[in-house]
Amino acid sequence: MEFIDDKQQSPQDRSEPSPGTLYLVGTPIGNLGDLSPRANSILKNVSLIACEDTRRSGQLIKRIGSSVPLLSYHKHNLKSRQSQLLEMLKSNRSIALISDAGLPGINDPGEELVRAARSNNFKIICIPGPCAATTALVISGLPSERFCFEGFLPKKQSAREKRLEDISKEKRTTVIYESPHQLVRLLEDLSLKCGKDRPIQISRELTKRYEESIGKTIEEVLKHFIINKPKGEFTIVLGGNNKKEDKISESEALNKLNKLIQEGEKSNIAARKIAEESGYKKNWLYSKLHNKLDK
Ligand code: SAM
Repeated sequence: MEFIDDKQQSPQDRSEPSPGTLYLVGTPIGNLGDLSPRANSILKNVSLIACEDTRRSGQLIKRIGSSVPLLSYHKHNLKSRQSQLLEMLKSNRSIALISDAGLPGINDPGEELVRAARSNNFKIICIPGPCAATTALVISGLPSERFCFEGFLPKKQSAREKRLEDISKEKRTTVIYESPHQLVRLLEDLSLKCGKDRPIQISRELTKRYEESIGKTIEEVLKHFIINKPKGEFTIVLGGNNKKEDKISESEALNKLNKLIQEGEKSNIAARKIAEESGYKKNWLYSKLHNKLDK
């Protein structure tokens, strides 16, 4: 890993922000000390800052002594704002995109602007910063080598049910965002779908004064939050489904194999498909098939 400091940067690097560039700037998720010096400098020197809520981001901008104008960019005005922002990039102005907190593009309309800027070949640079999902994941003690991010679950009942079903089967650790007043409902749903013993770790108020982590099983955290009304911001890290699926019986696997062949599949391809599905070895299935045919 090679680090560079200011003195080692080329003159071109030092002239950040560069014209016609969209900067995605990570901002604190609670603790102002987490704003990096580079983020601070970009937020003071770009032509414009696009943010979800000008009042909320205005507080951060004021705290760092920036006088860069703010423009609201949120899910209700993203289409009209996008063309406005692209026009500004075209006229060689630099834009910083920030979200209410954390990394823009994670659960906010940032993704759409990035896509539009990419398809118009503008330069996009991320000034990395805190993200609640990865912060909660790395302190959870749950496997982080592979994980998935769900953000907020859908509000519509049928879509929510389907998502919960998928999450319950997921083998990787899953990270979920939830508001405090929906937390107990989410935990009850997870308990029903995943079982009360599933490992879980809930991070509350990350990077803030009353930061805490509550675990270890769904049953334990549910009990905790029924007694202690959820307050603040929460990120949920759910352990993956580690239950071994029951293997189908040998005769069931052979029946499936025969059915595929009767439907017109080549025997070696059918054997491969059933091997993948059932966990039985392809060669074993193939030999059984031929034994049967030879008789
Ligand atoms: N872009 C943000 C990021 O990078 O983390 C996420 C924005 S999302 C709209 C807001 C959600 O993130 C909150 O409802 C909560 O679930 C989670 N979150 C944000 N700040 C948090 C914190 N300090 N502690 C725990 N969770 C937090």
